[in-house]
Amino acid sequence: MTIALAGNPNSGKSTLFNVLTGSNQYVGNWPGVTVEKKEGTLKSDKSVRIADLPGIYSLSPYTLEEVISRNYLLQEKPDVIINILDASNLERNLFLTTQLLELAIPVVVALNMMDVVKKRGDVLDAAYLSQKIGCPVFEISALKNTGVDKLVEAAVAAGKKHDASSIHPPHVFTGVAEHALAHIEESLGDVIPENEKRFYAVKLFERDGKIKNLVSLDESVMQHIEEHIAEAEKEMDDDAESIITNERYVYIGDLIKGCYKKRAHVSDSVSDKIDRVVTNRILALPIFAAIMFVVYYISVTTVGTFVTDWTNDVLFGTWIVPGAAALLENIGCAAWLQGLIVDGIVSGVGAVLGFVPQLLVLFILLAFLEECGYMARIAFILDRIFRRFGLSGKSFIPMLIGTGCGVPGIMASRTIENEKDRRMTVITTTFMPCGAKLPIIALIAGALFGGAWWVAPSAYFAGIAAIIVSGIMLKKTKMFAGEPSPFVMELPAYHMPAPGAVFRSMWERGWSFIKKAGTIILASTVVIWFTSSFNWKMQMVDGYEGSILESIGSAISWIFLPLGFGNSKAAVATVLGLVAKENVVGTFGILYGFAEVAEDGMEFWANLQADYTPLSGYSMLLFNLLCAPCFAAIGAIKREMNNAKWTWFAVGYQCLFAYAVSLMVYQFGSLASGSGNIAGVLAALAVLAVMVWQLVKPDRAGRRQVSAA
Ligand code: GDP
Repeated sequence: MTIALAGNPNSGKSTLFNVLTGSNQYVGNWPGVTVEKKEGTLKSDKSVRIADLPGIYSLSPYTLEEVISRNYLLQEKPDVIINILDASNLERNLFLTTQLLELAIPVVVALNMMDVVKKRGDVLDAAYLSQKIGCPVFEISALKNTGVDKLVEAAVAAGKKHDASSIHPPHVFTGVAEHALAHIEESLGDVIPENEKRFYAVKLFERDGKIKNLVSLDESVMQHIEEHIAEAEKEMDDDAESIITNERYVYIGDLIKGCYKKRAHVSDSVSDKIDRVVTNRILALPIFAAIMFVVYYISVTTVGTFVTDWTNDVLFGTWIVPGAAALLENIGCAAWLQGLIVDGIVSGVGAVLGFVPQLLVLFILLAFLEECGYMARIAFILDRIFRRFGLSGKSFIPMLIGTGCGVPGIMASRTIENEKDRRMTVITTTFMPCGAKLPIIALIAGALFGGAWWVAPSAYFAGIAAIIVSGIMLKKTKMFAGEPSPFVMELPAYHMPAPGAVFRSMWERGWSFIKKAGTIILASTVVIWFTSSFNWKMQMVDGYEGSILESIGSAISWIFLPLGFGNSKAAVATVLGLVAKENVVGTFGILYGFAEVAEDGMEFWANLQADYTPLSGYSMLLFNLLCAPCFAAIGAIKREMNNAKWTWFAVGYQCLFAYAVSLMVYQFGSLASGSGNIAGVLAALAVLAVMVWQLVKPDRAGRRQVSAA
C-alpha cells in the first residue's frame, strides 16, 4: 500500500514524514529534476510505503513542484493521500485540500500544529469539517507527536478499502460554474472514469494546457467545451481560472465560519514579540550578522578547527597514514602500490574526510536555526535584496557556508524551493573563496604584492561581484527568465526544535559528503596520483618532472597565455586545483623543486617573482578563485542538479566566466602599464562589450510584463 503525503510548504510535512517513517527513509530526487523526493516505509508496518510529495499550494501547472505532484497523483494513483494542513492557517491550506478531494483518491486530513491553535486559545471543530468535506479529519501535532497514531490507523484503513466509486468530491462550485463543469464532465464520455471526471473537468475549464494534452479529446469536443467556458466567463464577467479560484475561496470561507472560532482578544504571542525585534527594519541585519558570526566562529574558528586539526594532524597525520605506510612496508608491498595507497588514496581521501567533523558542527548549528524557525525570517529579510539578481533570500546560507567549503554550501541550496533560484545558487555559490583557496591568496599576496593587506579582501569582493554579475546576466537568458516567484512563506512560530530532527538533518548532509569522498574523490585522486607519478613509458618519476601530468600541463598551457600565465607549472597547478584547491600551493612548490613547503609557499616566493609580474599573478589568482571548483564540489553540483547537462553548464559557465575576468584584468592591466598587445586588448574589449550588454539589456520578464499589460 502507498500513502502519499501532500501539503503546503511549512505545514509540517517533513516533520510528520519523519515521525511516520523514523529511520526507514530514502532521500533521492524526482526523475530528471532537482526537486527532492523522499520515500520511506511506515515505522509500525513496513509493508506500507510513504511518498512525500513536494510542498505545494495548489495543483495548478505553474511550478515544477505542482506538476510533479499532480503527475504522481494522476499516474501512480497512491492508495490514500494524507493531506497535512497547518491548522493555524486554515484558509490558505484548505485551497489545496479542495483540489485533492477531486482526484477520486481517498483523502485523510491531518490538521497539524494543533498545539499552536490551542495555545492561541482558538477552537476548531474537526467533526464539522469532516462532515462537510466528506473525509476523515484528525487533529495532530507532528512536532509533539500527538494524534498521529489515530491518523495512521485511519489512513491505512481508508487505503485498504479503496473503493474509488464511493468517493464523492464536496459540492464546491455553484450556479454558472457548476453548470459548465457538468457539461464538460458529460463531454468527457468514457475517456475518463466516472469518479475522476471532476478533476479533469475543472482543469479543462481552467484551460490547463498540460491536462488538455493528457486527455487529448477530439477537436469538436474541445470546441464544445470552449463554448461552455466562454459562456460562463461572459456571464460571470471574469476569466475561467479566477472563477474557479474565487468559488473555492467562497466555499472555504463558509467552511471556516462553521468550524473555526478565534479567541476574542488576541494578545501578541511570544513569537510575535520576538519577531518585532528580530525582523525590525533597523535591527534585523545586525542581529542576523551577529548570529551568523557566532555560528561561523563556533564551527570554523573554535570547535570546528579543533576537531578538524585533530582529524588531519593526529588521526590521519600520525596514525592512519604512517600506520598504513609502515604496514605496507612490513608486508613487503611494491613501491608503486604503497605510493598509490598511502600518497594517493589515504592522503587524498583523508584530506577531504578531515573536513567532516567541522562540517558536522556547522550542520548541527544550521539545522537548529532552520528548525527553530529563524532561517525562515532570514530568508524573508534578505529576499528583497537577493531577488534583484535572480537569487532567493535563501541563497545566502549556501554562500555563507561556501566560504568554509563549497560542498556543504552547494548542498545547503536544498532548502530553496524554486528550481531556478536553486540552480542559480548552485552555479554561483563556489565563487565565494572557500577555506582551501586561502593559501593561494596568501601565496600571491606574499610573493608578488609584498603581503599587501588588500589582496585577501579583494578576493572576497571579486567573489561577491561575480555572484551579482552572474545573477543579473544569467537571469536575462532564456534558462532563467520568468516572473520572479513571489515570496510566499509562512513564518512558523518560534519553538524548541526536536533533537531528532536536528540530528537527522545534520547526518543527512554529512553522510552525503562522506559518500562523495568515497566515490568521486577516490576516483579522481587515483587518476591524479597516477598521472603525476608516472611518465608515458609507465616508469615512476620523482616529483612531477617528466610525468604524464606535466606533459599535459605543457600541452595545454597556451590556453592561459592571453591571461598572462601560459606556462606549464601554472597549468599543472590549476588543473590539480580541480582535485582540491589545497593542492595548488603544494604543487607549485614541487614544480619549483621544493618537496615540502609552508602553507603560503614562502620557500619559492623568489622563483615566483622571477616568473610572474604582479599583474599576471593576480590574473592567475582570479582564475583559480572563480573557475570550476574542486572535484568534490563538482560532485555536489552534479548531485544537486541531478542532471548531467546542467552540471556541465555550471562548470562550463564558471570556467568561461573566470577566463573572461582574468582576460580583462590582464589585458587592460597590461595596456595601462604600457605593455598592451593589440589582439589581446581587442579580445578583452569584445568580452567586456558582451558582458555590459548582457548586464544592461532589458529583462525578458520585464518586457513580457509590459506587453501583457
Ligand atoms: P514542511 O515544509 O511542510 O516539510 O514543514 P516542516 O516539517 O519543515 O515544518 C515547518 C516548521 O514547523 C518546522 O520548524 C517544524 O518544526 C514546525 N512544526 C511542524 N509540525 C509542528 C507542530 O505540530 N507544531 C508546531 N508548533 N510546530 C510544528
